[in-house]
Amino acid sequence: MRIAVLAGGVGGARFVRGVRQEVSRNRQGASVDVIVNTGDDWWLAGLRITPDLDSMLYTLSGQNDEQRGWGRLGESERVSAELKAYGVTPEWFTLGDLDLGTHIARSAWLREGLTPSEVVHRLQERWELGVTLHPATDQQVDTHVVVADPAAREGSGERELHFQEWWTRHRASIPVLRFHQHGLHRAIPSAGALDALLDADVVLVAPSNPVVSIGTILSIPGMAQAVAASPGTIVGVSPIIAGSAVRGMAEACLAAIGVEPDAAAVARHYGARSRVLLPATGARGLLDGWLLDEEDAGAVEGLEAEGIAARAVPLWMRDLERAAELARDAIDFAIELRGAS
Ligand code: GDP
Ligand code: CA
Repeated sequence: MRIAVLAGGVGGARFVRGVRQEVSRNRQGASVDVIVNTGDDWWLAGLRITPDLDSMLYTLSGQNDEQRGWGRLGESERVSAELKAYGVTPEWFTLGDLDLGTHIARSAWLREGLTPSEVVHRLQERWELGVTLHPATDQQVDTHVVVADPAAREGSGERELHFQEWWTRHRASIPVLRFHQHGLHRAIPSAGALDALLDADVVLVAPSNPVVSIGTILSIPGMAQAVAASPGTIVGVSPIIAGSAVRGMAEACLAAIGVEPDAAAVARHYGARSRVLLPATGARGLLDGWLLDEEDAGAVEGLEAEGIAARAVPLWMRDLERAAELARDAIDFAIELRGAS
């Protein structure tokens, strides 16, 4: 069996760790390819930083700080203090020393001419991850956030900041007018992402941020079409439980695109997958199936009436065991839907 997963950072990594556990336990021989969001990437102090890919890398290699929820275990911040003292990095963003090692390696390889995909493959060679990570695209499409600013120059009334500044410095507290991905029109899906989708039996949409993780992956020209055309059965897992994002600030992103923070609303936003491809209509339904939490079981019937097979299971990934059970539920559901189609 070939499994492809679309994923963001921390939520995605928790889920993929569960998928790996489930595969090693019950589905030996299955392969897992993870297509990871690159919209949060940016340049800082001359280094290319890729937060979601690093969350994956650290979590799957066991190098992550479980307690804090992100970054490296046993991290120190001596270099970051120097960078701040020079004013080369802002006060609100800290790069750990061990983490900086990864960024320096990545940036060195990029300067040698490796593509982001090649860099990701080289970084993961160091550990036995048990899954293969692919950046969603090899082009730079860093997400920016457009916010209202009455004092803006040129009278536009708007100002744009990098997603990282909005998320980390402002804790997603400034209302968003819209998200803007620079260079999006020039981007195409990475070869690894396309191959994974073309070969998949099962495509899982991780419980990641539907806007700035999954939404960003799908916005890469050609990506939504490649997902829709995949021979794999597509099952998504809700990142929203009983009306709230269990960890993090996904609600602020959903509000920006006018989607309620609600498991069924996110499923409707992704849409029912259309078996017939109608490019002329621009329809881009994604889902064959949707897992929502038992607390949201009341929404199952309505979604099924709209063409999205739905099932309520425990979605809270409290620990590795729960994440593995969730992965099992998602894969079983996909297999069941395959049989039914
Ligand atoms: P980020 O890139 O680090 O923000 O991480 P992702 O985009 O991959 O995932 C963030 C989202 O994961 C959060 O907004 C939550 O909605 C979701 N999430 C985190 N933990 C859990 C969990 O235990 N269960 C479920 N269903 N969703 C979760
Ligand atoms: Ca992210």
